[in-house]
Amino acid sequence: MRCPFCQFPDNRVLESRSAESGQSVRRRRECLRCNRRFTTYERIEFVPIVVVKRNGERESFERSKLLNGIVRACEKTGISHSRLDSLVDEIEAELQQQGVREVLSQEIGELALKHLQALNEVAYIRFASVYKQFKGARDFVDILNHLQEMAASYTEAATTSEVSDEEASDITPDSLDEREAIASSRNH
Ligand SMILES: [Zn+2]
Repeated sequence: MRCPFCQFPDNRVLESRSAESGQSVRRRRECLRCNRRFTTYERIEFVPIVVVKRNGERESFERSKLLNGIVRACEKTGISHSRLDSLVDEIEAELQQQGVREVLSQEIGELALKHLQALNEVAYIRFASVYKQFKGARDFVDILNHLQEMAASYTEAATTSEVSDEEASDITPDSLDEREAIASSRNH
């Protein structure tokens, strides 16, 4: 950062503190040549994200749209709204940190699925069925097989961990019924 007075490139930091309610860091600097002082702010870079839809249309990324889809997928799973809100925050931060301006809607869907898979099986299946535009039972069978493979590798990795207990209790009687309903659709 060049000195605004003499353009000298080197300076020393006299003080750093959090500013704008933690959104930035304010640094007081002193030029090593003219000794004059100036202030810099450091912020996380936010790029406006453009979503490229399946049909090639472009629209600006809307957080609320993603949140709505996730909330719908998580109905009756007992997952709190604040948990879903922070899940969307995580997805948005991941998109931001890719540092690209355009992102395919499929990529956002895959990111959401990745997060939902770790959170709740039923929500994962519901979101996948909408996002992947399931056409029939075959699609559900494929995704159930995928989940079973993942579950098998989780069980191997953490047979006695507390995390796997928590995950097990996420499955409510409601959602078990639903899984049976989906499983029975294999026969149709
Ligand atoms: Zn200077």
